Order: sequence, then structure tokens, then C-alpha cells
Amino acid sequence: MDFAKLAPASAEALELRRDLHIHPELSGKEERTANLVAAWLEKLGIKVMRAPAPGRSLIGVLDTGRAGKRLALRADMDALPIRENACNLKREKGFLSANEGVAHMCGHDFHTVGLLETAGRLAAMKDSLSGTVIFCFESGEEMGLGDDVRALLAEQGGADAVFSIHVQADYPVGSVVILDGSCTAGCETFHIDVKGKSSHGATPHLGLDPLNCAAQILITTNSIISRRVNSREAAVITPCQIHGGSTWNRIPDDCFMEGSTRFFDKQIGRDLHAMLDQTVAGVAAACGCEAKASWRNLTLPVVNAPELTQLARESARAVGIDLIAGQPWMASETYARFSEICPTFMAFTGCANAETGCGAPQHSDRFEADERVLAVNAALTVEFVKRFLA
Ligand SMILES: [Zn+2]
Repeated sequence: MDFAKLAPASAEALELRRDLHIHPELSGKEERTANLVAAWLEKLGIKVMRAPAPGRSLIGVLDTGRAGKRLALRADMDALPIRENACNLKREKGFLSANEGVAHMCGHDFHTVGLLETAGRLAAMKDSLSGTVIFCFESGEEMGLGDDVRALLAEQGGADAVFSIHVQADYPVGSVVILDGSCTAGCETFHIDVKGKSSHGATPHLGLDPLNCAAQILITTNSIISRRVNSREAAVITPCQIHGGSTWNRIPDDCFMEGSTRFFDKQIGRDLHAMLDQTVAGVAAACGCEAKASWRNLTLPVVNAPELTQLARESARAVGIDLIAGQPWMASETYARFSEICPTFMAFTGCANAETGCGAPQHSDRFEADERVLAVNAALTVEFVKRFLA
């Protein structure tokens, strides 16, 4: 895109973004960040509601005083437990996290400040808008917290729709990917306990080996995707840890493994859950052991509502952001839970720049975003708000 035609982010916004990057806070601990967000909104004359302690989420309500639709805009605020690398893909970064072992390596500092920049622009044009804009600042996205922000939104009467943006290192700055349907994966976490019977390593026939059973469960699990899910669907089952035994010559009584499923279709998610349960029970029976999977942290895919997707594309074109092709993100987002309240939409704005070395994957220690994505996010959001409330 032609950045000369894009209004740059305000100096205050750029300064605050750097400040948040230097002082990142972990999920559920965004006290300083939330205080800065609240102060910024209040200075704009926007009413702020904060989640009861220890919650850190907050919302701001911009009521134009004229009847109309209600649109929620959402940003997350938390950083990751990652030690930031002093370099990006090409050179030394200009500034770094000062909070050892914690860093904004998913770009949530851009989301927070992009939404504050948006709030400033919308507050300035309040007299030309109708309806209500609700700014939702979510705490603890990375840890699946954040239900307090949805509770605040519901308390304020909910919304007709919710709009969000995630910056994306896969795409160049100045571009946006707007997908039909699912744009992030659903996820469910499993824990499998395998019970056998201990025995001396020399006499396995006198026991029931839970390690051998777990190994067979793992291998059979790997064939669920390849043999039982339509190859046109994208889905993953990954066991990520397995623990059992304490020495070299004794078969233990039990062991466990943990992992997660990922999917873009809710029914595929339910199928993976059922097929893994079946695999665990069947393989355990064949081994003479007992095994059971327990499940937690179900997060559904973020699904873009067609009417919002259309409006977002029109908004991107209107402000000159490059609409490019992209793919759904095989990561999961608590943002999906907003769909219990109202229709949802999420855009992916590019933040990579090969010349300056921005483009390392999110959640990696070399991640850095091109700062101009702040202006892109604000322009896209403001245009979307104007069109939605019109
Ligand atoms: Zn993220």
C-alpha cells in the first residue's frame, strides 16, 4: 500500500506502544497496562468499566447520544513468558522488554495501542456517528482467561457485532487478509491416564505394561487424521508430553500423556474428541490395561460472519490497504468465545518487513512487527466502525 496516503499513528500512540513493549505483563497480570488503557480512555471522555479484582479486563463505552447499532471492538493485552532476543531476523532491535523472561512476542501491544488510537479518532468524530462503540480490552488471552471482558460486555447490554484484528508476521505490512468462515483453529486439550500393573523389567508377563500401551495409543492416535478425517479438512492431533516410570528395571503402574487437537470445523472437533476416546479405550483393552482421556480448555474456531467480512473488505479498499490472499491460522483464540454474545469478525493485518528484518514467527523470540501496522489497524477499524454504524 501507499503509506504516504495513510494517516500515521499519533506520536502518543507510538510512544505508548514502545512503553508497553518495554514493560510487558503476563496473562492475568496486566495491571500497569490496564491502568494506562483506562487513563487513556478517560482522558478521551470515554466511560470505563473494569472487571472486579483480580480480573484485569476493562471496557470503554463511547455513546454518541444518538440511537443506533452497538459495535464492540476487541483487543488483547497480555505478553508471553519468553525471553526476547535482542535481534530480529536481520538486525538488532531498537528497544527490548525490560521485564526479564516476559515479552510481547505475539503483538498484543499493537492490538492494545491500535485500539486506543482508534478510540482517539472515533472520539474526535463522535458528533458524526450514531449508536455506541464499546472498546473491549481483554486480559489473559494466551492463558484462556478473559471471560471477565465478555461478562462486562454482556452487563452493558452486549453488542450487535464484534470486530477484532490480529497482526500477522506471515504477511507484509500494509496488507490485510480477510477470510470467509473460520480464520483461527479450534483447540481442545486432552490428558490420558494409562493404568497397568507394575512388575520387574525382566518379567513383563507378570505385570501389564502401561508404557507399551501408551506408545501404542500414541501411534494409533497418529493414524486418526490420516485415515479417519476427510483429507480436504485441516486438523491436527498432537500428543506433546508423555511421562511414566522412575527407573530402568521396573515397569511402572501407570503413566500419562497430554496434547491437543486443532480443527477449523466444530463437527471435526467433536469427531476428533470421540475418535481419540475410542482409540484410547480400544488400545488399552487390547493391552489389558485401563486408559481414559479427560478433556479441558475447549476453544472453538473464530468464524467470520459473512456480512461483517464483506464490510471489512469494503473498508480495507476504501482506505487503500492491500487485500491479499491468506490462510486460516492454525492457532487458537479466546476471541472465539465472543460468538456466544454476537456475530464475530477478525482481520489479519501484515506486520512483516523483509528489509528491516521484521517477520519472525509469532511466539518466537525474534518476533518484531513493523510499527506502521498501528496506523493500518486504526485506519481499518475506524472505517469499519463508520460503515457499520452508518
Ligand atoms: Zn495473539
